[in-house]
Amino acid sequence: MTTRRAYMDWNADTPLSPAAREAMCAVWDKGALNPSSAHAGGQAARAIVEDARQSLAGNLGCAAHEIVFTAGGTEADNMAVRGAPVQRYIVSFMEHPAVVRPAKASGRPVSFLDVDAQGVADLQALERALREQGGKALVCLMFASNETGALQPVRQAARIAHEHGALILCDAVQGAGKADIDFNALGVDMLAISAHKFGGPQGVGALIIREGVGLEPLILGGGQERRRRAGTENVAGIAAMAAALESALEGRAQKESAIRDLRDELESRLQAICPQVTIFSQAAPRMANTTFFAHPGMDAATALMAFDLDGVSLSAGSACHSGKAEVSRALVAMGVDRELARRALRVSLGPDNTEDDIRLFLRSWQAQVERMSANAA
Ligand code: PLP
Repeated sequence: MTTRRAYMDWNADTPLSPAAREAMCAVWDKGALNPSSAHAGGQAARAIVEDARQSLAGNLGCAAHEIVFTAGGTEADNMAVRGAPVQRYIVSFMEHPAVVRPAKASGRPVSFLDVDAQGVADLQALERALREQGGKALVCLMFASNETGALQPVRQAARIAHEHGALILCDAVQGAGKADIDFNALGVDMLAISAHKFGGPQGVGALIIREGVGLEPLILGGGQERRRRAGTENVAGIAAMAAALESALEGRAQKESAIRDLRDELESRLQAICPQVTIFSQAAPRMANTTFFAHPGMDAATALMAFDLDGVSLSAGSACHSGKAEVSRALVAMGVDRELARRALRVSLGPDNTEDDIRLFLRSWQAQVERMSANAA
């Protein structure tokens, strides 16, 4: 039994950063109260929330008043999709269920946007979908895939969407903190982020909404967030999210380059040990931290368990609900054989990973491949 563990599931969750912890504790130590209260304690809490909003706006290229705080990425996506003043949706095949499910549940028509074999959205198909069908559309295109890491052509899609009078939502949950996200430069109408993907706490996120987009609120109640999202603000969580983003972006380029080096080493050794491995979206522009791969003879659940026993935490590509494995919709849309897609595993790295983690992963992988060959002989 090993004592060392290598955490390689940063697209699922990230450890709370020291900056975020400090910001949260500072709020609790101060005893921040309800930011809507008129008394001094309430006003102190209001100042914390507004400082965080300013800091996030500076780091995300938007105006502070365009930020609406939510209870995470799922709520931000739901709010954008359900509240958008549109008649239909054009949703990329790579999108997260937090976008796909509310679109389907809305009762409005949903068409899916094709991706190429590398998992990158097809802009000609977008243009066709916008031209050939009537009714104002919301285009949903994520910044980067949570599964393959493939970066999406968001800026170009925004231009095309606007040429056809459509709105566009960018789910940047997997981009914020790892890439430079600039709301204005991307030119989108709405953009979702989630704190726990960049060193902040779980259950806090934001939706940036361009001034003038008449979004219906999802949650009704008090008049918080300029009547766009009711509910007393999560003051400590919001402060921690702003601190986490600031900290994640410090030396971002160097962090990214170190992570890319580790990822590239992992991929080349992974395939050297076993050349039958397929790495999905390997030829696409990709987030530096993500490797999504499969071996035709390796069962994903068995591999996941073996890695876990060897001290390596990663994810399987197929979600298992009620004992039934659901194959990644993104991989199927990329034309990957369903049997191979079922075997997909995801490694996602972060700034804390080291060469030792890569060695631990590779040792486990080598042992698993040897066991598989021995069983087959
Ligand atoms: N969108 C993407 C692309 C994600 O990867 C996730 C979480 O994995 C979400 C949305 C949901 O975010 P949250 O966990 O904050 O609800």
